[in-house]
Amino acid sequence: MIKYLSLLKTTKPYKVIGADIAEGKLNHCYMLTGDDRVALDGLITLFAERILCDKDGCGECSVCMKIEDGNHEDIFEPKNLKADGIREFVDQVYIKPNGKYKVMILREIDKVDMKVQNFLLKSLEEPVDNVVFILGAERQTAVLETIKSRSKKLAVLPFSRYALEDYFAKKTAEYPNRALVKEAVDCCLGNLTRCEELLADEEYASDLTDIIFILKDMTSTRDNLKMQQRLGAVEGKLVRYLDMMQLIAGVLLKKLSGVRVDGFEKVNCLMDTFNIPALVNFNQLITEAKQKLENNCKESNVLDNLFIKLMEVKYLCR
Ligand SMILES: [Zn+2]
Repeated sequence: MIKYLSLLKTTKPYKVIGADIAEGKLNHCYMLTGDDRVALDGLITLFAERILCDKDGCGECSVCMKIEDGNHEDIFEPKNLKADGIREFVDQVYIKPNGKYKVMILREIDKVDMKVQNFLLKSLEEPVDNVVFILGAERQTAVLETIKSRSKKLAVLPFSRYALEDYFAKKTAEYPNRALVKEAVDCCLGNLTRCEELLADEEYASDLTDIIFILKDMTSTRDNLKMQQRLGAVEGKLVRYLDMMQLIAGVLLKKLSGVRVDGFEKVNCLMDTFNIPALVNFNQLITEAKQKLENNCKESNVLDNLFIKLMEVKYLCR
């Protein structure tokens, strides 16, 4: 069974492929775009089911079972994303399918080198009968324009908080830790991939709360040490804290700019602590701190330095 099936079936891309099939206008190439890997993967499988199953992608027949088990004879995915893998993949296009369609799946076309993406062009420019490509891309800028222009592009958008709450409300047995579910739904911003990560991370909520309080309370150098202690042993965890800070800064920036954010209410207490220029500065500081970590600076020094600069930023925005 495909994860988050009922949610995925409510998406616009899923409705579009259904309508295309119903109208006999199946496109030769679909490109699903968005930053939600879990949603992209689920939809790619659902698309294959819609195309190959005679019962509208029922999810139950032997065809759908084979698709979900990854062993349907008319579905091809490259064995790797390098030149040899893609070349072999493209060769498959010209071999007749066993059934009515052949489905060529490239889940991460944005991870294929642009030069290698060129191998695909011929089969997209001169579509082969009964062959359908399903491509997935998280970064559209990493995909050749010529491929994009020959694909029917479908954006996978974040799910509403209401839709996620509704989905998990029916899954109490599967997810008994309801407090964790609530946090994950609140903090994932409609992204299923993030939601999964949060559900698997029982310490996320308390760490996030700590970070928010630190950002709120830290006003003098005296607080610095106290705050570092609050974070506990920093070594090995700073990247995680920095990711959280960047996320908080991003959400706050949206909220302060008047962009509607579905969830993340716990950062509202910071709305009067930072203004927009301060957040932009803060974001820059986090990026610099990450670079220092990559250059193997000691984590406690990086954090110490970040906190001192953060206080300057906060001071300036008063
Ligand atoms: Zn089926």
